[in-house]
Amino acid sequence: MIPKQWQAAKEVINKIEQAGFEAFIVGGAVRDYYLKKENNDVDIATSALPEEIQAVFPHTIDIGIAHGTVLVLDCNEPIEVTTYRTESTYSDHRRPDNVQFVRNLKEDLKRRDFTMNAMALSKSGEYIDFYNGRQHIDSKIICAVGEPIQRFEEDALRMLRAVRFAAQLHFSIEGKTFQAIQQKAATITYIAMERIQVELSKIFISNHVRLGIEYMENTTLGRYLQGDFNQYKWTDFYSEDRRVGWAYFCLVNECDLSLLSAYRCSNNDKLFAKSVLEAYESLINGIRPIDLMRFDLYILQTAYQFAKWQNRILSFSYETLAERKDNLPIQNAQQLAISGKDLLNWSSKKRGAWIKTTLDAAIQAVVNNEVDNDKQQLKEWFHAFDDEG
Ligand code: ATP
Ligand code: MG
Repeated sequence: MIPKQWQAAKEVINKIEQAGFEAFIVGGAVRDYYLKKENNDVDIATSALPEEIQAVFPHTIDIGIAHGTVLVLDCNEPIEVTTYRTESTYSDHRRPDNVQFVRNLKEDLKRRDFTMNAMALSKSGEYIDFYNGRQHIDSKIICAVGEPIQRFEEDALRMLRAVRFAAQLHFSIEGKTFQAIQQKAATITYIAMERIQVELSKIFISNHVRLGIEYMENTTLGRYLQGDFNQYKWTDFYSEDRRVGWAYFCLVNECDLSLLSAYRCSNNDKLFAKSVLEAYESLINGIRPIDLMRFDLYILQTAYQFAKWQNRILSFSYETLAERKDNLPIQNAQQLAISGKDLLNWSSKKRGAWIKTTLDAAIQAVVNNEVDNDKQQLKEWFHAFDDEG
């Protein structure tokens, strides 16, 4: 937990209490505090209504007043304050039909997904833990609050959240909760791909990706989503970069980049995956100097990691990759000693596509050490090349 946020949260709670209402830290921040892990967002739940919060704090932003959330800006760090609420019926497996504000903390905690996420912490550090969250954390299990089948019927995303938390925390999913996921797995298709993408990204950058994939397979959730979640195709891997995870997902799926569109990944993520997969192909076929020049070092290093994760044997070490790239005669096309203008001066031909083709060939010749990156030598090379052409 970031101390600044913690301090701000205590101040917010004090002010709400002074106004005669209750307020507690809730959700992920409490779980992570108990786990002694860092968490960047401290959420507060309160018995006060949104307009009552706005009356207590001069500077607030509505960030979902219909859901009861107000962002308080008066205590150094922005803090989200949400009115205790229950969620009534769910007819579409993903959103409550309406939310009702309540004055009772227990009601609010009851609507939360897992016992470890359904605890509250008072400003003096006292836990309110109606559902044995701490005990389940101690036994490293993820356990739905209440009747798991019903909870997953209300919101199918919770099933994928269970798998995500398992991968992040290296916890197991409790038996009844697990069986309910198996039973309800097909309803994951009600959830928007963007939200599925967020959870899969968190699995990909978690410390236990393989466990996540194992759960995707044995809960059968993976069957209802695009792509292959067969655990034997995935070796364990680790990256803090979401893009690396998505690119690897494509590799496991025979380099099928269309998957990234299906999961609504950004263009930036798609371009990254495309480059890494091209670099990977090049690496496993014995990398050409032109590819060492063409790809950024990070792309090459990522592709190298993929080869390792796929148990491919490469003839050179990861460490020499940077060295080999550094030792190229030129690092990019701009460093070539000649330009299109030189070619026009040396030739009787008119401007045309041949200029780019020739410059590309010159770059190849230079990185392959067939000719020095020197204007005079490149002129001679050009005449020989031009005669052949
Ligand atoms: P993270 O550390 O990844 O943010 P988190 O537990 O804080 O994990 P959030 O998505 O930020 O997860 O949600 C905050 C809290 O809101 C959760 O701890 C949980 O109590 C509740 N919550 C979130 N999503 C759901 C859901 N789909 N169903 C029920 N409760 C939920
Ligand atoms: Mg959170």
